[in-house]
This record gives sequence, C-alpha cells and structure tokens, in this order.
Amino acid sequence: MNQMAKDTVEDALEMNFSTAELQRYSRQINLSQVGKEGQCRLKEARVLCIGAGGLGSPASLYLAAAGIGTLGIVDQDTVDLSNLHRQLLHGTNDVGREKTDSARARLLAINPTIVVETYTTRLSAGNAVELIRNYDIVVDGSDNLPTRYLSSDVCVWERKPNIYGSVHQFEGQASLFAPHLGGPCYRCLFPEPPPPEAIPSCAEAGVLGVVPGLIGIIQAMEAIKLIIGTGGNLLGRLLHVDALTLRFREFNIRRDPNCPVCGESPSITEPIDYEQFCNHSNASTVRGISATKLQEMISRGQEVALLDVREPFEFEIARIPKSRLIPLGTIPFDRNSTDRNNRRDVQERRAQRARHRISARRRFRKFTQSRRWSRRLARRGRSDDAQILRRSERTHEQARRCRAEFARNTGLLACALSGVTLR
Ligand SMILES: [Zn+2]
Repeated sequence: MNQMAKDTVEDALEMNFSTAELQRYSRQINLSQVGKEGQCRLKEARVLCIGAGGLGSPASLYLAAAGIGTLGIVDQDTVDLSNLHRQLLHGTNDVGREKTDSARARLLAINPTIVVETYTTRLSAGNAVELIRNYDIVVDGSDNLPTRYLSSDVCVWERKPNIYGSVHQFEGQASLFAPHLGGPCYRCLFPEPPPPEAIPSCAEAGVLGVVPGLIGIIQAMEAIKLIIGTGGNLLGRLLHVDALTLRFREFNIRRDPNCPVCGESPSITEPIDYEQFCNHSNASTVRGISATKLQEMISRGQEVALLDVREPFEFEIARIPKSRLIPLGTIPFDRNSTDRNNRRDVQERRAQRARHRISARRRFRKFTQSRRWSRRLARRGRSDDAQILRRSERTHEQARRCRAEFARNTGLLACALSGVTLR
C-alpha cells in the first residue's frame, strides 16, 4: 500500500469508516470532488424516497450503493408482476410482497452498511410534515398529483430540497425544487393541476421501463451532488428527455412571486385537502357496486350492461362473460358532454395543438438562425450599423414573441407530463 492510500485509510478510520467501507467507496473517494469529506457527508446524510416504484427503484439503488447513511422509503403498495419491467428494486419472487419490505431487503443486500427506514403507508397531509422533517433531502418518485403537490409544499415549509421526476411513455423530466435556495417550487411551475380526465392511468399510457430508470438516476445524482456540495444542479432548470429521439432539452423555470406556497405573501401555510385540490375526490361521487353484488345480479339473470374499461391486453387475460370492451384511453376527456361527435372534436383539438406546437418550434428555429445570420453579417461588416440595429430590434421582438409562444406550448407539454407519471 503506498503512502497516499495509507493516509486515506487512516483518515477514513478516524471518520468511523471500516476498511470494508473504505474499499467499497474507494473509486468514489478517489474523485477530488468527493474525497473522504464528501464520502463522510454521504454517510451522515438522510434521504427520503417517496415511492419504491419506477423512479424510486433506480434512485434508491444508486443512493444506497453510493453510501447514503440513512435512506427512508415510503410506499403503501405491494409488488405486482406488471411493475417488474421498470421497478428493479423488486424481483419475480417478490410479487405480492410489500414494496417497502422488498426494497429494504434489496438495498441492504447491495449495501449492508447503510440504514434503511421504511414506511408502509401513503404520504398524506397527516404524516408528511413529520416524515419529511426527519430527512435532509426528498427524492419525489410519486405517481400521483396529490402526493406531488403535498411533498413539494411540505418541502417548502420545512426548507428541504425536493428532487422532482416524472415520466410518460418515452418521455421524462426532472428538476430540483428548493425556494430556500432561490429556485421555484412545484406550484410555481404548475399552479393548477390538470383535470383528472386528462391524466391517463399507468395501464393506458404505458411506459418504456428504461425511461424511469434514466430519470430516477438523474434524481439520485442530484441528491448526491447536493449532499457533497459540488457541481451544478437543476435548480431553476427543467430537464426534459425524449428517449425516442434521445434528445435532452432544458427550460429555465423561475420562482413565482405570487406562488401561494413559496411566494411573497403565501396563502397556503399548512397541508390542505390535496385529493380535493386535484379534483380526484370527484371520482368518489360515482355510486359503486361490489363484485359480489354484481355476481348476484348476473346469477339472478338480471339484465346488466357491463362495460370493461381496461386495456385490450388486460381484457385478453381475463374477462367477465358478456362484458363489452371500451378502453378508457379511447374515451374522450370531456365527460360533461354527451355528444358523440365530441370525440372527433377532442381529436381535432389535439391535432390542432400538435400542429401549433410544431409551427412554434419552426418559427423559433428560424429566428435563431436569422439572429445568427445577422451576427455573422455584423462580423463581416457587409451591413451598416443602423441596418443591423434595426434588424436586431426586430429579431428581439420576434424572439420575445416566439419565446413566449414556445414556453406556452412546452408548458402545456410539461403540464401534461406532470400529471401522468408512472412508478
Ligand atoms: Zn412556489
């Protein structure tokens, strides 16, 4: 062992690192940006992962491996076979087991030197403050809007960084919300939740398993850098990934001074009814019927019209005789309308929005090209100053309009994405 490695061993031992730990983290400690001090900070850190699903899996796996001293995992679900293509914390033998149990076993198998604290419950207005208060950083891998607004709000009040991630089909996005560090919160970005009708469920929307893997790892990386205190981070930036084209784009996001939670005069200072806020409670106003009651009605020979709104592949696996398949994904969003033509209207509106988005992008591209062109002209001296000035004023105004339009459209996209996360 050379002198330098020997010093590192001695220093690490002083910091309560065992030789096994030192060997485990040696490639990380060797990085000048991490070093023994960084590793020590990781060991002392407490990170709470909300959800042990598609985002929580990669995030917690890498955080555990990196040596985060205490990892908290909140999840109330059990492992389902359909989770396994993206939720790598769990294996085939874990199907039916509580996700928190399976997560704890897997994380400790990777790194037995850390502490894993599990909470088999849903993060709620009643427990969120107490839970989040006990941790330094929150990695939000939740799959629903009420939990996301709740975790963001509580992080604002408790002054904890909230590392956000969401995925939809082939796309994903990530950011860091921390108003106490000068950035925005989730509400600054999305003041109003999208209508529940606009949020397709996991089964309807689908997701490529790799996408939450990618976003979850970005979330873990943000947490590690924040703890070590090195590098840049996603504060004030929304990173968007399109896995189909493998394009990474980012948008600047700002804190809203009128934000009801992190703004200058906040109107929300304690947890609210998030289900109602996200209008999810409306679903419960529909009268329900139990499976047993339905069975009785069918065996009595009573005429029932039974619609199966699951996806076709689920219908193939098992179905109730005489049920009719109309997948939810094919039903138009506007539930207030009974007009059959409405479906066509919705499709037309969607197509219109898509066309609008594309044309805004084209105009934006055109502008950047023309601005570059005018700069080139200026450099080559082929145009007089006044002409350049006039053109530059024009392009600035054009740029402002294009940017506003672009932001509006991408905002819509982001808004759609925000509501359709899968774990
Ligand atoms: Zn805010």
